[in-house]
Amino acid sequence: MQNNILVINCGSSSLKFSLMNPVNGQIILAGLAECLLTAEAVITIKHQEKKISIALSDPFDHEVAIKFLVDYLTEHQLKKSVYAIGHRVVHGGEKYSQPTLIDEDVKISIEQLSKLAPLHNPANLQGIQAAEKAFKQTPQVAIFDTAFHQTMPKKSYLYGLPYHFYQDHGIRKYGFHGTSHYFVCKEAATMLKKPIEQCNIISAHLGNGCSVTAVKQGKSVDTSLGLTPLEGVMMGTRSGDIDAGVIFHLVEQLGYSLEEVNNILNKKSGLLGVSQLSNDCRTIEEAASNGNVQATLALEIFSYRIAKSIASFTCNFTSLDGLIFTGGIGENSMFIRSLILSQLALLNFHEDKLANETMRFGKQGNIAQSDSTPCWVIPTNEEWVIAEQTYQRLNQEQ
Ligand code: AMP
Repeated sequence: MQNNILVINCGSSSLKFSLMNPVNGQIILAGLAECLLTAEAVITIKHQEKKISIALSDPFDHEVAIKFLVDYLTEHQLKKSVYAIGHRVVHGGEKYSQPTLIDEDVKISIEQLSKLAPLHNPANLQGIQAAEKAFKQTPQVAIFDTAFHQTMPKKSYLYGLPYHFYQDHGIRKYGFHGTSHYFVCKEAATMLKKPIEQCNIISAHLGNGCSVTAVKQGKSVDTSLGLTPLEGVMMGTRSGDIDAGVIFHLVEQLGYSLEEVNNILNKKSGLLGVSQLSNDCRTIEEAASNGNVQATLALEIFSYRIAKSIASFTCNFTSLDGLIFTGGIGENSMFIRSLILSQLALLNFHEDKLANETMRFGKQGNIAQSDSTPCWVIPTNEEWVIAEQTYQRLNQEQ
């Protein structure tokens, strides 16, 4: 097929890529370049059941990683099959609610939006520039992580701050994980055999980053992540909601610098901070099962905060089709799912233990009892959404 989409997801020191058929989601090739700009830089490519990893000691940046990928594609007669490139871009602000063909103006906007996503948008832009150099005339499309949440009403996205901060500086909730929430809701709609526009769903993306989203009649009406990916439920290393006063206390009473507080809230809190062990849910579950008190506490806080977020979002609905779990934890941890559901009994969520034990490692299905509100485990596939939307965007052009 000559209509493959190369999906690129660029982080500050990593570049994830996959070459996909946008119609059926088939992965032709996938891989990851990581530890970029360090001596440990390595690129791994999975293709035709084989996996190759190549370590490079020279300064190995995004541009070199893409050049390496292009050489591999050329060598395997795949370069010509690349119809377009779809980039995951984290922050699209209020400007971008649709897949967007990348031109000079779009690149300037992505750069300007870096002030709202300083860790992500500059890396996304680097990926775009590197791909432009390597693929010259191949069209590139940006798929924004914030786009799906642009349908939120003002009462959801505005903070209780002086209004001019929103008017003058765009300070509001934007939300993230949009492509993931959209994908799993679309899958749920298929299972329900009705259009997504008729579905009322709460979706919980639980991975290293976590967010809960209320989807009413197919549209995001509220989500837990905010201006930045720090708000909302507790995550792997991020605190989620805290009293903003904690920040003043840490700075004024305990002498931390703002940079240190930023680092604590984003990188040292959450499951890692409470468990004092790891941000990895598997490690914490294992420790908890061996009687580790901090690990048990971390899992209790984590699941309680998610249950509370799900419960609070029910105020958007008069009826609910179901709840979705996705992301590394949501797709695999029967323990966390069980803990969350046990705290939502009043909302008619009742776990089917056997189904919950079964739905792991890529399996999709309902884990609730037959008289309960459905609760599905649905593996996410953000790459497919990016490939599909890139393809559709270009076909709109013609
Ligand atoms: P993600 O960011 O979506 O890749 O998810 C990463 C998180 O998923 C980490 O906290 C992992 O520990 C967690 N995870 C992956 N597999 C399992 C599993 N079998 N049981 C519990 N947690 C898991």
